[in-house]
Amino acid sequence: MVKIICLISLLKSSNDNSEQYNLINKHMSIAFISYLYTFIHTNFSMEKSSFSRRQFVSKLITAAGVSALAALPRQSMAAVNNEKDVTVQDVIDMFIHTVPSAPIKGTVDTIKAGNPSQKVNGIVTTMFPTIDVIKKTIALGANFIIAHEPTFYNHTDETNWLSNDAVYHYKLDLLNKHNIAVWRCHDYIHGHVPDGVLMGVLTALEWNKYYDAANPNVVTIKETSFEDIISYTKNKLEVAHVRIIGQLSQPCKRILIMPGASGGARQISAIQKTQPDLIIVGEVNEWETSEYIRDMQLMEGKTALMVLGHIVSEEAGMQWMMNWLNQQLPQIKTTHVPSHDAFNWA
Ligand SMILES: [Zn+2]
Repeated sequence: MVKIICLISLLKSSNDNSEQYNLINKHMSIAFISYLYTFIHTNFSMEKSSFSRRQFVSKLITAAGVSALAALPRQSMAAVNNEKDVTVQDVIDMFIHTVPSAPIKGTVDTIKAGNPSQKVNGIVTTMFPTIDVIKKTIALGANFIIAHEPTFYNHTDETNWLSNDAVYHYKLDLLNKHNIAVWRCHDYIHGHVPDGVLMGVLTALEWNKYYDAANPNVVTIKETSFEDIISYTKNKLEVAHVRIIGQLSQPCKRILIMPGASGGARQISAIQKTQPDLIIVGEVNEWETSEYIRDMQLMEGKTALMVLGHIVSEEAGMQWMMNWLNQQLPQIKTTHVPSHDAFNWA
């Protein structure tokens, strides 16, 4: 124990040397602390029962100074507490803590089923918590679904209007019977910097290398025909069909990507601002962006349109979320269960 205090004092004394101090500030990570703990534990016969890893971490942080604590990646803080039960609220707080605009006023990211204080046994990420996704969650032994979109068929998950509805009750009973919690993560994943959904989609398309923080929704690729981009996108996102407006032979280089359903005004404003060869979206209202593109094409404007479908356009975002959770909470298994497009083609 004396030796530990010596080591801590050594760390603290490095505060006087700004270069060393900065280095500690910059590089002190959970992994480093874990390593240090394991090293001391094995080498200096620490009293196991009276000095837990968490106590060690807190003593070390106190000794090294509050600014060292601030230097830890914010999202990793919850990982420190990996000895206690992780609750639904812990997971939610851990992610929200990483979002610069948090707390988001009036957010739709609320708990739709289950209890915030329940212990998490396993997590499933998905686009929609469909009955199929809920059944797969049960089969996985997980009890917490993080879904990007609503559970009960409207943006705010208002349920009064469904109080006599058989579909609503079937889903709610299934969730309650198996103690499954559901949290919507929509505003916060989009509020993450970079936007988690956008990064997921860019990664799935292998266009993340073109990501530009100053202009996050625009990528500039090697000039390719619209036809080839269509095949490439279908292949990468594993979809059979996309809806398009534009000439197949048209060359495309500058691509505006807006997953989900941003709405006509936002899509059209972004086209005006960025002047892309192609805009790829999740969903359009058929009386808005698609009609704008049609008129634009008739004026010999250059922008083509590709509509992926809402789920297809954002599913990779929830895979991004799965990866994030598996990194930050390795003690809890997170699985991505795709909800897949609801439509078949006939
Ligand atoms: Zn979205």
